Amino acid sequence: MEVNQSDLLEAARTVRKNAYAPYSGFKVGAAVLAEDGRVYTGVNVENASYGLTTCAERNAVAAAVAAGNRRVTAVAVSGDRPGTMPCGACRQVINESGRDTVVIVDGGPEPRVYKIGELLPESFTFDDE
Ligand code: ZN
Repeated sequence: MEVNQSDLLEAARTVRKNAYAPYSGFKVGAAVLAEDGRVYTGVNVENASYGLTTCAERNAVAAAVAAGNRRVTAVAVSGDRPGTMPCGACRQVINESGRDTVVIVDGGPEPRVYKIGELLPESFTFDDE
């Protein structure tokens, strides 16, 4: 089965309920489509030591990498507030998969779709561009 953007967004919405966000109360779910064609998910995981909190997007990418993927082709994000965007750190991590990686943001009736290159211009990379 081919995974489309709406499947990916639905996976992000579904997993969001598993977020561990007792401090902020703000849950985020993410789903990535990896180069193996499979979907991997992540949620934000907060900690009593706030600075150790990790984001849904980075946790989803980590799950894909742990399964043997080096790149993801798309990342869907669904937060408790419509239009929740990936933070700067997550943009940098998503960018590792390439400037054309698609970012799908849950924004109500119509999702917003970007390329990571739009969301992180002039990024830090070791590649020549
Ligand atoms: Zn983040």
